[in-house]
Amino acid sequence: MDIFESIQVRNHEQVMFCYEPSCGYQGIIAIHDTTLGPALGGTRFWNYKSTEEALVDVLRLSRGMTYKAAVAGLSLGGGKAVIIGNNKRNDREAVFRTHGRFVESLGGRYITAEDVGTSPADMDFVHFETDHVTGLQGLSGDPSPVTAYGVYVGIKAAAKSRWGSDSLSGRSVAIQGCGNVGRWLASYLHEEGSTLFVTDVDDGKVKRLVDATGATAVDPDTIYDQSADIFAPCALGAIVNDKTIPRFKVEIIAGGANNQLAEARHGKELESKGITYAPDYVINGGGLINVWGEINGWTSERSKKKAAEIYDAILKIFAIAEREGIPTNEAADRLAEERVLAVRAMSKMWLSRARR
Ligand code: NAD
Repeated sequence: MDIFESIQVRNHEQVMFCYEPSCGYQGIIAIHDTTLGPALGGTRFWNYKSTEEALVDVLRLSRGMTYKAAVAGLSLGGGKAVIIGNNKRNDREAVFRTHGRFVESLGGRYITAEDVGTSPADMDFVHFETDHVTGLQGLSGDPSPVTAYGVYVGIKAAAKSRWGSDSLSGRSVAIQGCGNVGRWLASYLHEEGSTLFVTDVDDGKVKRLVDATGATAVDPDTIYDQSADIFAPCALGAIVNDKTIPRFKVEIIAGGANNQLAEARHGKELESKGITYAPDYVINGGGLINVWGEINGWTSERSKKKAAEIYDAILKIFAIAEREGIPTNEAADRLAEERVLAVRAMSKMWLSRARR
């Protein structure tokens, strides 16, 4: 694999390989694009089989963060970090303080946060070495209520586009996953008078949600066959694939899970089947908005207000899809790219105190 070639393919600005032999730390920090602001994205701690696998993951994830921040209307660019190794290891202080020192060396061009395999306690170790870290214990806290609120307004926008009214009262929604996002989403929908079908591999979580909202429990394997107006995936990625698409009996797919389409072509296939798809990284942008709120010292109410703008973003994306004759997942990318290009064009004017 040619490293510069893989960096060029996705237009990355900078990729830093980091090593500290004393604790066997090996990390990669990828900065995709800082046109809109400092590159923000979590640190993933994973036992990658090879350096190549780790590099591909960090390049893909950091690019995704540029797009997510751009459509959320934030002054943030996209970045991501990976640490290669066993994420259950006990000597976390050495690993994460080392990581923090490398993050600090970038002088704020990259801001890190928690991700798969890391915890808020790990981020506290990072914080010993750098201020360029978010998601710390005792600050903005669990992002799920804001994420779920963004998903809720995104579903309303999809309903508006599909049925001419954004009321979800009397609409049926099948929710996959009764975890943090799923249960908050269920509570917003229940409050509005939606009929809910819920599933999870954890029976206890299903029971709690059924008791709280009067939802009907569905087997995890049959959720894709559930007749409903809306399917809201809030658990796994890649659940829109060759096997599930023929089974869906819904008009809208809109939920909080990351990477819902197994492959980009599945967006086109949903369109062909007449299913309205709200692109995942747009509708679940509330988590990133919550982090942005932490950086700016916002109250959770203010973050929620910003997340409410997801409604307009979804409508804008549907309008682009219609105008250009492209699937909504491609239209989301178009919206993100248009914003980055517009801001980049603006920066030709010299200002002594410009942000960049
Ligand atoms: P979570 O771990 O709290 O909940 C996920 C739930 O899915 C768990 O209850 C789990 O038991 C269930 N689950 C796992 N496999 C399942 C299966 N096969 N069928 C049914 N249920 C299954 O996670 P979360 O924070 O609620 O996040 C849910 C999704 O949303 C993830 O894809 C996450 O990446 C994404 N997301 C979350 C946030 C956030 O703020 N938490 C932000 C953006 C995106």
